[in-house]
Amino acid sequence: MNPEETEKWKQAGKLARDALHFGKELIQDKNKMLDVTERIETYVLDNGGELAFPTNLAVNNVGAHWTPSSKSDEVFSKGDVVKLDVGVHIDGYIGDNALTVEIDGNKYTKMIEASREALNAAIDVAAAGVSVGVIGHAVQDKIEQYGYRPIANLTGHRIKRYNLHSGISIPSVRERGGASLSNGDIIAIEPFVTDGAGRVGGKRNSNIYHLRQIRKIRDEKATELMIEIRDRYKGLPFAERWLHKIQDDARKNLQKLMRAGIVSYYPVLDELGNGIVTQSEHTLLITNSGNEVLTK
Ligand code: MN
Ligand code: MN
Repeated sequence: MNPEETEKWKQAGKLARDALHFGKELIQDKNKMLDVTERIETYVLDNGGELAFPTNLAVNNVGAHWTPSSKSDEVFSKGDVVKLDVGVHIDGYIGDNALTVEIDGNKYTKMIEASREALNAAIDVAAAGVSVGVIGHAVQDKIEQYGYRPIANLTGHRIKRYNLHSGISIPSVRERGGASLSNGDIIAIEPFVTDGAGRVGGKRNSNIYHLRQIRKIRDEKATELMIEIRDRYKGLPFAERWLHKIQDDARKNLQKLMRAGIVSYYPVLDELGNGIVTQSEHTLLITNSGNEVLTK
């Protein structure tokens, strides 16, 4: 990777980190989830970045993948365990990071610490030539030391420019073999911890969408929306909320694009044993001697 590119990954990482910590302070009893999300996203745009994906809020038994819609009226409550996951890009160079807060409580302090320490254990071993299975092993060991389970079907991922999940997955469980990391790889590591079953699933609409394909649709406004989605988000996930800046009747045209198989939503991923879930995430640059945490 050339020095200019490395610098862009670092800039994106820093802004993702700043936005995450700006957002953390807004997660308080009685605050509206929609307001918090919009303030975080405005912070990113005001500071020269764009969103790599809609800001995720996953509360209590939700493991991942939910963002408020333009009509959401949910508020945070005392005792909520909230995963905040923020992704920023600058010119396609992405920073992805997440943390967990428990609102006015300390029932899950240890579970939050378990995800943070599992992430640190992964950072201790990640380097060029190391297989992703070794990272998963370190993560699982640490989580089990705390007496919890890792979520087996949520993984970290290699990142490339404009590509959030580029081939390699980083498990939170022991795995034999698997891909090896290379010098210059950008990876996100994100251990999820639970006192439930250790798996997530579900079908509900998360309000997070992605463009599946470009194809002809016999509707002028829906076609216009499809092209705008392609040109603005460049294959990255997007929110229903964002589309209202493009069209007044975006909701209706989004439905048309869904029915035509052009756009799909990501499902909300609930913990299948109804456990509480915590998460920590950093984006790393892999080097021959180890790694550099870009979102620190
Ligand atoms: Mn993330
Ligand atoms: Mn991620």
